Amino acid sequence: MKNKIIISILVICFFLNLINFGFLKTCFNFFILFLILFVLYKIYETWFFNSSTFISIKNRIQNHIHNCNELNKHIESLKSTYDSLEFEKENLGHADFVDTSNYNYKRQANKEKRKGNNICECSRAIVSKANQQPFRYLCKYFNIKANENTIQKFEILLNNLSAAENGKDLLLAEKEDILNHILPEIPFLIQTFSKEKLSNKLGFKFIDLSDSYFPQYSFQYISPGGNASYSTNITLNNEILENFIQYLANQLTFKNSVKGQRQLMTKSLRERIKIRDHHTCKLCNVSIKDEPHLLLEIDHILPLSKGGMTQEDNLQTLCWKCNRSKSNKLI
Ligand SMILES: [Zn+2]
Repeated sequence: MKNKIIISILVICFFLNLINFGFLKTCFNFFILFLILFVLYKIYETWFFNSSTFISIKNRIQNHIHNCNELNKHIESLKSTYDSLEFEKENLGHADFVDTSNYNYKRQANKEKRKGNNICECSRAIVSKANQQPFRYLCKYFNIKANENTIQKFEILLNNLSAAENGKDLLLAEKEDILNHILPEIPFLIQTFSKEKLSNKLGFKFIDLSDSYFPQYSFQYISPGGNASYSTNITLNNEILENFIQYLANQLTFKNSVKGQRQLMTKSLRERIKIRDHHTCKLCNVSIKDEPHLLLEIDHILPLSKGGMTQEDNLQTLCWKCNRSKSNKLI
């Protein structure tokens, strides 16, 4: 693609040169000069990335890069928690939907999204009510039941997504540290014009900073003609998720009439546990004093799935590596 653009510009410039206008000719000359510099730089860049100096820098920091990439992989797996948690769904049976309408059916959007899990097609009134009372309508229309099991699953989700967000910041800081450490050995031109390429050539994997992995629920209405459409969208980011768990827990305590029956995995509880454990992994003893960008996670000593509770004596701080091997063993 890039080559095609350069070739087309060259061809245009060639014809412009034939016309021989003073101004255009100057432009053409500038372009040729730019092109020569660009090609020379690319040759220099290729030479540098194949040079023994660069290869020895790369080999020296290989372990650090490997660690970063492993953490990156771990964060990606944390992000997919929502898909791996099987939320309780009633078996409502199976039926086939057939569209036999003869008229010009305009509601293509409706047809396309019919299979979407988290989309509720409803009336316009419901769309606006869901906007006013999101949690209430989320439970009602997406069949989310306020019970222990649901709360526990949302808690696991919140715990993992919080670790993912935290991990992203720590990973970036660690990567920045590694790059800053080797920067004095990297030529100025490469630092300035090939920063991204430098990171790729060193072996860093792409870090996805988008937050599109938060679960989304949507209430939507599309008019029969397809000309009017409204939607209320709820994104369960960490803050909203924490409030939603609180909402579910309130429903539950109200039902059982026993308040304060359970603790919730809130941000402040997670921080409290980390402080209590001196920001040190309870299994391998690594702490943020040893590794300033260490990702620490909160683990249920007896897992929720085995009857463990979210309470301080059942919670401990683990580094991401120990937590990952612990969950692998449980599976
Ligand atoms: Zn550990």
